[in-house]
Amino acid sequence: MNTYVDVIVDVSHSSLDRVFQYLVPTELLNEIKIGMVVKIPFGKGNKIINGYIIGITNKPNYDKSKIKEIKSIATNNITIEAHLISLAVWMKERYACTIISALRTLIPLNKKISKKTEKEITLNIDIEDLQKYISIWNEKNYSALYRAGRFLMDNNKCTQTQIIKNTNISSSVLNNLEKKGIIKIISQEIIRNPYNVSDIERTDKKMANQEQHEAISEITNNLGLDNQIYLIHGITGSGKTEVYMQVIEKVLEKGQQAIVLIPEISLTPQTVRSFISRFGNKVGVIHSRLSSGERYDQWRLAKEGKISIMIGPRSAIFAPFDNIGIIIIDEEHEMTYKSEISPKYHAREVAIKRAQMTGATVILGSATPSLETYYLASQGVYKLLELNEKAVSTNELSVEIIDMREELVNGNKSIFSNKLREEIESKLEKKEQIILFLNRRGYSRFVSCRQCGYVVKCDNCDIPYTYHAIGDKLICHYCGNAIHMVDKCPSCKSKYIKQFGIGTQKVEELVKKEFPQARVLRMDLDTTTRKNSFDEILSRFRNKQADILIGTQMIAKGHDFPSVTLVGVLAADLSLYISDFRASERTFSLLTQVTGRAGRGTLKGRAIIQSYTPEHYSITKSKLQDYKGFYESEIEYRKLMSYPPFSNLLFILLQSTNEKELISSSFQMKRDIGLVADKLLIEVIGPSPANISKIKNNYRRVIILKSKEYKNLIIFVNKYMERLGAKYKDISINIDINPQISY
Ligand code: ADP
Ligand code: ZN
Ligand code: ZN
Repeated sequence: MNTYVDVIVDVSHSSLDRVFQYLVPTELLNEIKIGMVVKIPFGKGNKIINGYIIGITNKPNYDKSKIKEIKSIATNNITIEAHLISLAVWMKERYACTIISALRTLIPLNKKISKKTEKEITLNIDIEDLQKYISIWNEKNYSALYRAGRFLMDNNKCTQTQIIKNTNISSSVLNNLEKKGIIKIISQEIIRNPYNVSDIERTDKKMANQEQHEAISEITNNLGLDNQIYLIHGITGSGKTEVYMQVIEKVLEKGQQAIVLIPEISLTPQTVRSFISRFGNKVGVIHSRLSSGERYDQWRLAKEGKISIMIGPRSAIFAPFDNIGIIIIDEEHEMTYKSEISPKYHAREVAIKRAQMTGATVILGSATPSLETYYLASQGVYKLLELNEKAVSTNELSVEIIDMREELVNGNKSIFSNKLREEIESKLEKKEQIILFLNRRGYSRFVSCRQCGYVVKCDNCDIPYTYHAIGDKLICHYCGNAIHMVDKCPSCKSKYIKQFGIGTQKVEELVKKEFPQARVLRMDLDTTTRKNSFDEILSRFRNKQADILIGTQMIAKGHDFPSVTLVGVLAADLSLYISDFRASERTFSLLTQVTGRAGRGTLKGRAIIQSYTPEHYSITKSKLQDYKGFYESEIEYRKLMSYPPFSNLLFILLQSTNEKELISSSFQMKRDIGLVADKLLIEVIGPSPANISKIKNNYRRVIILKSKEYKNLIIFVNKYMERLGAKYKDISINIDINPQISY
């Protein structure tokens, strides 16, 4: 009987995104497995391409004579769990992507990777006999052999590299010695490990405090019972990591595996270290900067059961474990969990789906959960566990909010309030360190009144208008509404109303001017383009080679600087009034992080938050570290405006080099969509310029589709997107459902 495989071809074209059958040649019968990548002849010219095996069967679905044969296996002998294939199919449905893009994400290896080996040398004769050889070699002046012999006297066991390096001999000398039976050479595999586990000190588990204990027993008592989803809402420093680790310990005892997702390796090095120090070489780490060899080794270790905990950013959710007990998502609110390239998946959603398929438990952890998650917890869909106390008592940070409007009234037009300036001077004098934080996020070109704080917003969307110099206009980047730039504040009639925005470079300039004695470091996208520059800047600051660190949200989390005693947030408004409905959520989260983490050292710390609208709830509640208070205000706003979690948004991004055509097409497309939207209960918003309205001569506009029902958006995409693509051939069209960034 013939064996056939169902294959998805490795070609990015939606018309080819279906199953093709191939015959398995006899010599490959024993090797073929699901999840493998194979070389296959494809199309009329029988061009050899890659294909992913997603099924094996004895039944041909086509005319047998037309089924071609597999040519060879393209990857190492690695297979994946059947449920991961189902997960890829689910991703296609959920994210309207192709199966091939889902498979490429799930199976990140598509070529043969060789194992890395090292030759190990062992002495195969007695020391006395070796001594005799050495004398002979010495007499006959065989100097290479003599040097090798002397080295082997002290090193009965060594690697080939070591002996060659130390004695300056060639490998043929070693082969000669092996032939004579004096040594044995054995090839040993070495695992390419991105972390040197033995460098990290091992730690024991901590005695859980009452709150931690309750969380741990609630989760561990129910492991595997009903694939529960937990939200651990724990303040910064409440010891969430300890809870994760003790739960994992129980999971491992049951012979199961754990996946731990973290937002980004470089931003959270401490979390990775804690896991390695607790679980040693049971931990694998996967991330995008691994070489393909390192990635392959980590994958294989997971597959072969040699590691049982996989840590990494969102793609680690696809770790090839076969018996997952728990999936943990730390800092679950972070936007990095959503992929911005196809498949545009959200790791939280994939985690929950994978857990459902395998019976695993999910833990979402955060000090400032996303509105979507906390809403579901409040509805009882997720089970809420709270950690309200710090695990280790620290010096509380005193947080002060400065009203910049008053500064203006008092004649201070600089970016430093008098209070902040005084504090900086006093810390510099005491040789203590300072962080100045510019919470820039996306594009802040909103217009606000410096006298009363009024921000000009769109009436339809309650989103701040964005200033456009061309035509001196204010445009809403959601619905496209435009008004003329105002010259007087609509609220207080002051003339101090203008565009708001300042960059880190400018801040650095001003800091140097005001505090010429200070040594200043700046950390932002511009100064961290080189690999490692991120770590370099941090370690220079930690080593006290600078007094002031100026940075963006990059420096907000995960870094302990014991001698920092002052954190200044220069303009909280910068992240609060960007044109994104999540602006308040992000601001609250950022400010909570910044103010919550300082004061960990022995010195007393202080945070100063400057704002033109200090009464805004995302600022007042962050001062009190009051998430619930924030949530209650924010969820009301979301409900009122019908933003997520009360709706789903599909962004259609249109791009073209021809601006005129783009604008007219975008309006035409809106009308086209309007013809079918009502039936699907979809509201069409826009078109409007994208937040980044032009990249490299490409003009960008967006149309937003809003619906209570996620599935209606998918129906729309599947039914109509292809037609729209065909009709508007000259325009590049991209979609993203519930994006975390705003286009
Ligand atoms: P979170 O992730 O919730 O912000 P961490 O996990 O970083 O908090 O914990 C904060 C600090 O408290 C860490 O240094 C951790 O080692 C310590 N810690 C956590 N739990 C305990 C405990 N039960 N006993 C002693 N120290 C603890
Ligand atoms: Zn005003
Ligand atoms: Zn609007």
